[in-house]
Amino acid sequence: CGVFGVIGLSDAANFVALGLHALQHRGQEAGGIVAYHPEHGFNSARRFGYVRDNFTKQSLMETLPGPLSIGHVRYSTAGSKGAAIRDVQPFFGEFSMGGAAIAHNGNITNAEELRRELIERGSIFQSSSDSECIIHLMARSLQKQAAERLEDALRRVEGAFSVVAMTRTKLIGVRDPLGVRPLVLGQLGDGWVLSSETCALDIIGAKFVREIEPGEMVVITDKGVESRQPFRPQKSRFCIFEHVYFSRPDSIIGGRSVYETRRQIGVELARENPVDADLVCPVPDSGTPAAIGFAAESGIEFGLGITRNQYMGRTFIEPTEQIRNMGVRLKLNVNRALIEGKRVILVDDSVVRGTTSRKIKDMILDAGAKEVHFRIASPPTAWPCFYGVDTPERDKLLAANMSEDEMCEHLGVDSLRFISLDGLYRAVGVAAGRDPKSPAYCDACFSGEYPVAPRDMVAKGFEL
Ligand code: 5GP
Ligand code: SF4
Ligand code: MG
Repeated sequence: CGVFGVIGLSDAANFVALGLHALQHRGQEAGGIVAYHPEHGFNSARRFGYVRDNFTKQSLMETLPGPLSIGHVRYSTAGSKGAAIRDVQPFFGEFSMGGAAIAHNGNITNAEELRRELIERGSIFQSSSDSECIIHLMARSLQKQAAERLEDALRRVEGAFSVVAMTRTKLIGVRDPLGVRPLVLGQLGDGWVLSSETCALDIIGAKFVREIEPGEMVVITDKGVESRQPFRPQKSRFCIFEHVYFSRPDSIIGGRSVYETRRQIGVELARENPVDADLVCPVPDSGTPAAIGFAAESGIEFGLGITRNQYMGRTFIEPTEQIRNMGVRLKLNVNRALIEGKRVILVDDSVVRGTTSRKIKDMILDAGAKEVHFRIASPPTAWPCFYGVDTPERDKLLAANMSEDEMCEHLGVDSLRFISLDGLYRAVGVAAGRDPKSPAYCDACFSGEYPVAPRDMVAKGFEL
């Protein structure tokens, strides 16, 4: 998901709509905006579909006046999949000290346990979303101020959270102690901005100030930015897959350009897994920077052998199997003139179920390729993510059920190689590779080492 918030700019919701539009790659199912105006109070709008189709309409934006606003774009991981407007954030609650709204990116790993406890004590849940717990925990806090209530609430919550919240006078941003999901601070004129990624600061012309630190809470009012440390300090574990796939290539995370990191992944991949071929071809768009790096390192020509229809969303994100199956052909087409008679290296970011890769291989062979070699910019995805990326259960993950040779055979390609975990760490700037005693990132979907125990899943029988 993507979160965005603005304080101190008139018609803040307009800026939020633009910011969410730049974060659309983080979630395309639905979006919502809440705004506060001293005379008109809190107003909200939550809609299915793209931000650009909903939140640029004058009529809708006019209902969201005021200098304070937050928003969210949704990609369903926890809670019900598919259509339920009640699951669309931000969530809003009215407390004794006034209203507050929250937008959450990540996934709460003890949400079901919390929900049971809260319902027993009288909370009335409105959605199936894990994030709604935060509002109920805030309501139960004995603190007077919203920021303190949010601190109380988040101290009970486990897992990954980058939260943007607002009250009548404050914009609040928090990252979980491990800092699994990103959150950055920006400045525009007299206003302040919180965003999942820097690319959304660029779209409104805001200046990137700094990242919110793992475990940090910032409380922003008209007096400025106050920083707090509500949690016991821990070593951070940012999601390494944000670098590989999730973030936009024009964003800066951890002081590094995502594009440069991805290009470097391609360089490492070519060093680790060279192959004789005629053409390096990215699986667009997510494989493109890595393919550029692969071509540069290997000296093999780079070519756009696959064209992507820009008007389709990301296939993986469509929640039903049926749509996912159609998705590849709706989205990608092969450039026969370039492919015919060639030995082709296809570079993609990841293999999850393997459905995309299989179909792309078929398309490339149909177009007359002599050989197809897959090179993958992440290690085999063998474990589900419980921190906000929608990887399927283990029995649907190709790498959880097959060796690399079996996967190669299953996909029907001439070779299949993945970057090593060490190679990936080098590409994200850890020269010594992965420190097995204390890894610098979360890499659980590749290593199976979960930095936060997925409590709800373990209770349901998931074996670590
Ligand atoms: P597969 O067909 O192997 O299940 O899916 C892999 C493809 O899905 C890759 O090309 C990748 O770009 C895309 N994808 C989209 N969203 C996600 C996501 O959230 N996680 C992963 N691992 N891949 C995703
Ligand atoms: Fe990121 Fe993978 Fe960790 Fe999930 S499990 S937070 S996708 S590195
Ligand atoms: Mg892809």
